[in-house]
Amino acid sequence: MPELPEVEAIRRVLEPQIRGLEIEQAAVSRPEVVAHPAVDQFCRRLEGQVFDCITRRGKFLLIRLESGARIIIHLRMTGCLLLVPADFPKEKHTHIVFRLNNGKELRFSDTRRFGRFWLLGKDETDTYSGIEKLGKEPLISDFTAEYLSAKCGKRKKAIKECLMEQSVIAGIGNIYSDEILFAAKIYPARPANSLTGEEWKRLAAIVPERLTFFVQKNDMTPEEYLETKGQDYRNTPFLQVYGHEGEPCPICKTVLRRTVIGGRSSTFCPQCQSNLTFGKEL
Ligand SMILES: [Zn+2]
Repeated sequence: MPELPEVEAIRRVLEPQIRGLEIEQAAVSRPEVVAHPAVDQFCRRLEGQVFDCITRRGKFLLIRLESGARIIIHLRMTGCLLLVPADFPKEKHTHIVFRLNNGKELRFSDTRRFGRFWLLGKDETDTYSGIEKLGKEPLISDFTAEYLSAKCGKRKKAIKECLMEQSVIAGIGNIYSDEILFAAKIYPARPANSLTGEEWKRLAAIVPERLTFFVQKNDMTPEEYLETKGQDYRNTPFLQVYGHEGEPCPICKTVLRRTVIGGRSSTFCPQCQSNLTFGKEL
């Protein structure tokens, strides 16, 4: 599933290409992909609208329209947004096509069909998408150790699960929670209430540092994006633990291990992220 760095990469590559373009026609072939409003309204209301900027909130993309309305998109597992010439071969499982006024189409394809679109009018309150319930953006300045420990410091839940909770931090999933906890030298199954003040500080610094690193590694040209159909995992060579179970730790060479936390797989270094990093009070 795309996490913050992948969604941010899509935002960066698409925004300059679609800004100022007008939607001549919107066509939806799978109505369940549009969560709000009804499909016929969704299509009718979008015709003639002009794309403004694209912003991101957690793993959501928000396409602002010049009218003040906004399209909110969550790609979930396999959703893919592609800007292509109108005669470009259609991806299998293409569910939405926006025909634009420059001879191109913005298409949404999704094999698993968990991805969702919402269209909200200028003054419409978003009670639909779940964005209002998101926690802090990790790349903003008031993302602090105090915020993290206030949100999670009294909880028994594993720290990995806390990091993945969208109401705590917006945008982190299975891959980057493993990478962050490895860099912070914290065992992923540690109960959040066992972390020391020093460890919360370390996490608050490492979360934006790691995410920024991967956002930068994800940078791509429109041509690269189209060539790989938005499914390019350029971060893969830079992942230190995720997907590397059984391989030596890049720091200490101990064999990396995998465990299951809250139903999600987690890879860690038993040496670098050992219980020795537990707080003094334990
Ligand atoms: Zn290690």
